Amino acid sequence: MFDVDLFVVGGGSGGIRAARVAAGHGATVMLAEESRLGGTCVIRGCIPKKLFLYASRFSDSFNDAAEFGWKLSAPRFDWPSLVAAKDREIGRLERLYADGQDRSGVEVVHSRAVLADAHSVILVGDGRIVRARTILIATGARPELPPFDGMDLGITSDQAFDLKELPSRVVIGGAGYIAVEFAGLFAGLGSDVTMVCRGSNVLRGFDEDVRQAVASSYTNRGIKLMLSDTIRRLDKPTGAGSNTSPGGSICVTTEQGGRLVADQVLLAFGRTPNTAGLGLDRAGVKTDAKGAIMVDASSRTNIPNIYAVGDVSNQVNLTPVAIREGHAFADSVFGKNWWQVDYSNIPTTVFSSPEIGSVGLTELEARAQYLAVDVYKTRFRPLKATVKGDCESSLLKLVVDHESSRILGIHIFAEDASEMIQVLAIALRSGATMKDFMSVMAVHPTVGEELTTMQAPTVRYDRRDIRSPVTISEN
Ligand code: FAD
Ligand code: NDP
Repeated sequence: MFDVDLFVVGGGSGGIRAARVAAGHGATVMLAEESRLGGTCVIRGCIPKKLFLYASRFSDSFNDAAEFGWKLSAPRFDWPSLVAAKDREIGRLERLYADGQDRSGVEVVHSRAVLADAHSVILVGDGRIVRARTILIATGARPELPPFDGMDLGITSDQAFDLKELPSRVVIGGAGYIAVEFAGLFAGLGSDVTMVCRGSNVLRGFDEDVRQAVASSYTNRGIKLMLSDTIRRLDKPTGAGSNTSPGGSICVTTEQGGRLVADQVLLAFGRTPNTAGLGLDRAGVKTDAKGAIMVDASSRTNIPNIYAVGDVSNQVNLTPVAIREGHAFADSVFGKNWWQVDYSNIPTTVFSSPEIGSVGLTELEARAQYLAVDVYKTRFRPLKATVKGDCESSLLKLVVDHESSRILGIHIFAEDASEMIQVLAIALRSGATMKDFMSVMAVHPTVGEELTTMQAPTVRYDRRDIRSPVTISEN
């Protein structure tokens, strides 16, 4: 009655993992991918972004090198070489994914797929209809574009990795993960960067001290922040004297009346689930107001044999989450091993320069949920910065439940914060207390050692104490 046990729509992080694991459990699996195997993360997200970030950080290293005794001739950056290196690596990863699917026995079809009904999928390429016992939708998300005049003159992160040349002047709309990461990345490569942020600061939802730290660090690096403003329109300059740079310059007008000229305008206004035209209505699958597929804790939709994982269900839009959702789905449905993803205390990082690492509650969230909260906070110049004569400071912050001494949140703005937060998340999720942190011997000299030497809270918020907040130490 069915051609396959499982049909996976979308070969990104979630779909690939689910297909491989389900096939490993003995299911017959077909996966359709309309673009390139690997999805957003591999082709136009995490991986190219991190490669570009590595490239951008060399400028700091070259500058620092002189302070550490190196004599270098003036370095020269070549954008096309970086793009070519990135293309080689993502091509290699794409082939690895294809081989992995092949070895697992998954049949990969390079076509768009849409639902015809709750058990049938149409392969748009050749019109074939495939009947599947179970369908998994893992179609991810695409850049959200608020409509304003001249929007087409801008680019999104999808195009940013394949520009013909490094733009000398970049305006970035938005203040979330992508805006902050690309601002640091372009500035590091030598572009003049302006961020237009509708909020009063960047990175809404992150701890306030971290937001402040990244904003002042970016300002020190020469990145211009236009806060409480937003892009109103984009135009091509006309008439005599207009700039005709090879990238073609663009005039940016903001709501507050600001006027900027840029070679590229990066629009980073969030992402929207890829559900349009997917045939969900024909199958009866429900979506929310944003178009995200509504799922239960087992990634199941309102139609019992249809599941959805990853960004298309808009829960926590990170690669490891999509992968784990795909894995849990495949084990539960095909492996007789039912389990669900635990969404609590998911660590996250923003690859700014320096980086942000964050896990657990922010200070404000903790103060809203707990009676008494201790905040341990230290700002300091890392050893490397002292030699450079750099004023850039790192921030380490622990948010602690006063009653139990349990760590509720960890927030870092420092070099390699992404690496630190991965390990610290294990401690936080294991219920580590402030005493545990203090009892661990420091590793010296490191940035992380500061976490073991914070003897007293900087400030205590106690809702039972009318003098609250009480400042305990200023460090
Ligand atoms: P995707 O990886 O987007 O895969 C969906 C796939 O489905 C795509 O390949 C698409 O072509 C295909 N598809 C869509 N519709 C159809 C159809 N009808 N038929 C067939 N195929 C279809 N996350 C992190 O954890 N760390 C990071 O550092 C990070 N950096 C990022 C940087 C950028 C610039 C972006 C945009 C995202 C980043 N993310 C990061 C988020 C991460 O990429 C996503 O959360 C993750 O890729 C989601 O996986 P997914 O499987 O849900 O979807
Ligand atoms: P985010 O949700 O992080 O940020 C969107 C930004 O756009 C916010 O600053 C928001 O402002 C602003 N915005 C939204 N609508 C408008 C509007 N109409 N006018 C002006 N500003 C607007 O989305 P991103 O696109 O940066 O990233 C998408 C997702 O991809 C992230 O949320 C994350 O899940 C994932 N990602 C993860 C990365 C990582 O793990 N390192 C890196 C990159 C992406 P406001 O805050 O005021 O709402």
